[in-house]
Amino acid sequence: MVLIKKAESFERWYRIIELADFAMDVDGWTVLLPNGLETWHLAMDRLNDLLLTVGYQNWSFPVTAAKAELLPAAEIILKAIRKRLKKKADLPLLIDNYINLQLRKKAGLPLLADMESAANESWGVFATQKEAEDGVKVLLTAYRELLSGICRLDYLELLRPWMGNGYIIGLDGQLPDGRVINIGTISYLDQHAARRARIKVDGAYPYIIRANISARLLGLLAAVHGDVRGLILPPVIAPLQVVIIPIFTGLTKTRVLEKSGEILGRLAAAGYRAHLDDRPIRAEQKVHEWELKGVPIRIEIGLAELTARQVTFVRRDFLERISISEARLENELIELADSISFQLRKRAMEALLVQDAASLKEARAKAAAGFVRMPLCMRLACGRRLAAAGLSARGTLFGKAEFPPSSCAVCGMRAKAWLYAART
Ligand SMILES: [Zn+2]
Repeated sequence: MVLIKKAESFERWYRIIELADFAMDVDGWTVLLPNGLETWHLAMDRLNDLLLTVGYQNWSFPVTAAKAELLPAAEIILKAIRKRLKKKADLPLLIDNYINLQLRKKAGLPLLADMESAANESWGVFATQKEAEDGVKVLLTAYRELLSGICRLDYLELLRPWMGNGYIIGLDGQLPDGRVINIGTISYLDQHAARRARIKVDGAYPYIIRANISARLLGLLAAVHGDVRGLILPPVIAPLQVVIIPIFTGLTKTRVLEKSGEILGRLAAAGYRAHLDDRPIRAEQKVHEWELKGVPIRIEIGLAELTARQVTFVRRDFLERISISEARLENELIELADSISFQLRKRAMEALLVQDAASLKEARAKAAAGFVRMPLCMRLACGRRLAAAGLSARGTLFGKAEFPPSSCAVCGMRAKAWLYAART
């Protein structure tokens, strides 16, 4: 049992991502493990569906190593194997290498501090500014569906100016220790990118937009939804949505396993990613392992359930036990998965904190817990003073006019905007 509370020591709690087969650190590089990688694939498949629907097409570009140091990949793989292999029972360990690009070693936690990592990016090239800015909105909608709808997270869309008319919208989430991390960006590059790359269509420079989502999303997902027992994965992207744990004695073994197999068949037929854990180990140990890995729904079947023609559901978020009639299995599962999804998003929204600050001192104190919002004159000098005070300016709220009170929290001059900041 992990039993370290996130609120007590987030960094110590975060070690569960390795125990949960999600990701691990090897000498400053992040290795995605099966549970994390599959969650990533499921999330990216959903994003891909969303993007294809609005007209994007899949391309694949080469990864060039012109400027990067060449990675001693085999050495890292061997070190990872050394770190993973604890006992003979861990063999065979069969690895199909999923390449994720990391240009620099990181200082910090795996997935959360990565500069470059597994990522997905989209580019849009348009004839007019209007179409390009509409394109930004389309991508924002797709990312909202991915981050809020599918991953059940909460985040802010923060606008930062770029060259000329250009701008960048940062998608910033908040970790349980109050730190803010960027998980994606959507940039409106105006005609600058085309001009620099000498891209011309019928004598005119097109308008380019670019969006990307980082695997830091996985780190945020683990950190925000997880609890003292491990991860809690949103049902839609959980690699395993339902795990069945048969509970039997020598006498009831055959009947319980038979019933468990039948229930597994019904789950598979209904389209669930389900698994029957019939390993010859204690049920408590199985429960512990699947809770750690974040499987959202557990079904327990024992003699009592057999007799009553029931199954017992245990939901991973509340760890609540619910007995339901076997006949209602499929219907109840749909409701339960919806309810867990709803709860995860609700908790994520409650955890994201934005506090107002009227002075630099107040901003610094409040940034320990999450985002701070302060009225700012938006002059460069005040931006520098923010940075010197250990605060990073994340931007102004995108798509929503917010009117600040009269004076800048740093210099006292007329405030132009509510600026969102976080500790660096
Ligand atoms: Zn100022």
